[in-house]
Amino acid sequence: MAVDGKKRQMPPGLMKIKELNKENLKTCGLQLICHVTQEFKKEQNKLRTYVTEILHSIFFLAIIHKDRLTPEDILSAQTEIVRQEFPEPFRNYKSHLPKRTPFSILLDIMQLTFGTKENIMKELCSLMKKLKFPYPLHKPANKNQRYYTLESTVICVCSNSLNTSQEYFGASLGCRTENAKSIMIYSSCINTWHEYVSYAVMSFEHQTEGDSLQFHESMQCQAYIRDWKDNIYKERQPCMNCTRLFSLPKGTEQEHYPYGNCAETECLSKLLFNDQFMLENIKIRNYTTDKMNMLKHRTRERLLGKLASIPSLSNLNKDDLWFNT
Ligand SMILES: [Zn+2]
Repeated sequence: MAVDGKKRQMPPGLMKIKELNKENLKTCGLQLICHVTQEFKKEQNKLRTYVTEILHSIFFLAIIHKDRLTPEDILSAQTEIVRQEFPEPFRNYKSHLPKRTPFSILLDIMQLTFGTKENIMKELCSLMKKLKFPYPLHKPANKNQRYYTLESTVICVCSNSLNTSQEYFGASLGCRTENAKSIMIYSSCINTWHEYVSYAVMSFEHQTEGDSLQFHESMQCQAYIRDWKDNIYKERQPCMNCTRLFSLPKGTEQEHYPYGNCAETECLSKLLFNDQFMLENIKIRNYTTDKMNMLKHRTRERLLGKLASIPSLSNLNKDDLWFNT
């Protein structure tokens, strides 16, 4: 309530939490950028696309955050050095949607560098410790301590048991705010994930009864959550949403996440893109091209609605090309 015409001051405790969150997104963003640009110095040719993509994704998530953080806010003194090497994300971060979250891209870099599941998980844990990412989940006693880090605490690995040499990785969305989550999910449905995975996610989002995917029995899929105390990845059962979407066994009720939020979505999409056998042996309920187009159209409408509600993007022409190709 306003007193004497003045705006009520935010209580100091809340103010501190707000500042802390801002610092977290800022510091985590900077830490991650420093790490990938260091790696880039060692492996220029291999990593240029990934570093460009990760910068774009971090800048976009930062500018749609309620604090409207710019690349300069994140990089401060290092802005010009990074801009010189990677000018593109500085030009595009407000006009083009990223295809993936920063952590998904990091996961790709880790796979490129460390190869196997065991190595990747071990190295990811030491990297998270080195970058000093704070514990991203809120403590049960204090709902305000919901740090916005760029870490996806859950990752998922899937493969075809007839060809186990190839493993596919996925990360949960890891965006803390509802707006960012929805934007990344809608955008991934239209622009990133395999169309069957998108179809399943969109059908559950838009219909009272969604249409599940049923993979061939040789599909193997296991999610892992990083235990912050022991700093190791531990197995995690799929949630009810993933059980419904992908006909996975043993779903458990967990916190409420939107369809498409989980790490399973990304790795199963990669499996369908890369494994012909899996693609040919999948069963999809009620799939038709017309229905797919209708779902995409509705999702696009919702996406545009979300984007229009973000003040930092308000100057953009809606007819602009929103997607990075
Ligand atoms: Zn799930």
